[in-house]
Amino acid sequence: MLKFLGRGCCFNPMEGYTSAFYKKEDKLLLIDVGGNIFERIYQKNILDDVTECYIVITHCHCDHIGSLSDLIHYCYYAKKINVNIIPANHSQQKEIKTILENLYTIDNEYCFYDNFILTQLNISICFVPTNHYAAMSSYGVIIKKLHDDNNRIFYTGDISSFPNEILKDLHKYEKIYTDVALSINPAHIHVEDLMKIIPKEHLHKIYCMHIEENTEKLLKNKYHLNVVTLD
Ligand SMILES: [Zn+2]
Ligand SMILES: [Zn+2]
Repeated sequence: MLKFLGRGCCFNPMEGYTSAFYKKEDKLLLIDVGGNIFERIYQKNILDDVTECYIVITHCHCDHIGSLSDLIHYCYYAKKINVNIIPANHSQQKEIKTILENLYTIDNEYCFYDNFILTQLNISICFVPTNHYAAMSSYGVIIKKLHDDNNRIFYTGDISSFPNEILKDLHKYEKIYTDVALSINPAHIHVEDLMKIIPKEHLHKIYCMHIEENTEKLLKNKYHLNVVTLD
């Protein structure tokens, strides 16, 4: 379901900052729009046949929100496309609005869309509060097809620990896209910790993203984990 525009962490810009999308006909859902992601959206003509664009931001670090303003301006002025930001809650809405205001992106150029059921994309989304960076709120995103409680997708965003809410229901998930680090970093979950937390029978559902430079082979060969590929 999800395709990836980037899979790198903030110190791995050459693989694109981690961002994914789901497209159904002329409707687009984007998860995170980090600093170099607008350029990739543009280069890949992702918006060519899109009339409605929905955006979810997992948290407000630059590698997740850095080119949101570029995207909004391009959609509003060049493509005449509606950009709808789906905030996790009122507090995240305020946070995003302030960042955009500081970049002179005003609120008639985009909308906040406060419905987590997207019938136009045949999915619902649900935000899960996560631990990542003490000074800011961050969220993972559950994506469910409408009328199907199983075969869910979970996108962690950046996490320092794996959310219990997902662990208790792993059997309901088809794919779990997770941040993973090989270096010791208090803001990101270490691969060894991830391996300890996820029961063996569910490891095939794990897809690593937000990876550090030159770590794909190690994740695949030593840990036998999937790593997301770029579209
Ligand atoms: Zn982050
Ligand atoms: Zn990040």
